[in-house]
Amino acid sequence: MKPLELVVATNNIHKLNEFKEIFKDYNVKLYSLKDLNIDIEVEETGKTFKDNALIKAKEISKYTNLPVLSDDSGLIIEDLGDNLPGVESHRFYLEHGGLEATNQLFVDNYSNSKAYFVCTLCIYNLKEEPLFFNGYMYGKIASKYDKTSNGFGYDPVFIPTNYSVPVGSLTSEEKNSISHRGNATKLFKQYLLDNNLI
Ligand code: IMP
Repeated sequence: MKPLELVVATNNIHKLNEFKEIFKDYNVKLYSLKDLNIDIEVEETGKTFKDNALIKAKEISKYTNLPVLSDDSGLIIEDLGDNLPGVESHRFYLEHGGLEATNQLFVDNYSNSKAYFVCTLCIYNLKEEPLFFNGYMYGKIASKYDKTSNGFGYDPVFIPTNYSVPVGSLTSEEKNSISHRGNATKLFKQYLLDNNLI
């Protein structure tokens, strides 16, 4: 069976690598935007993860005939209120002095607050209607910020439930097995298997 080909609608190398690793044992071939010489940054103007995932997938689909996989994701810190930083997760740190300053701010002000990551996947042009899958990872904000840990974004300051270390201290395999992106992708993989698409 020919592999299912998908274009991953992200310029974030960390997300791309996570998707590659999550799909590595499946009959799926992923293309990056770079592979297809698509050089655009899509503006995220939506109010929900679903809106933004759809906006990204739709925009990239203008440049390719292949089906497009996009994701929109973010962290919600309960004590911060208003579902923040949430859909604004990227903008939030840009407006708060950058990622390091924001991770420090979270540890200083919201340590031990319940928090969770959300990921909404959108698969566009595979079926007539776009498909959506949601994944979550629950946990809390760390009380220390280890700047030497791995991962990206808020990984160094988020401790998943049943773990004692932040996501940034996990291997990529460990992260993908419990992460919001990993969980959303598991649902998508199951859909592909159930529909004999891979
Ligand atoms: P977006 O989905 O590209 O809009 O990303 C939103 C922001 O959420 C990213 O810039 C990261 O700061 C954060 N984020 C999303 N997923 C993760 C993750 O898996 N780990 C850490 N931070 C993440």
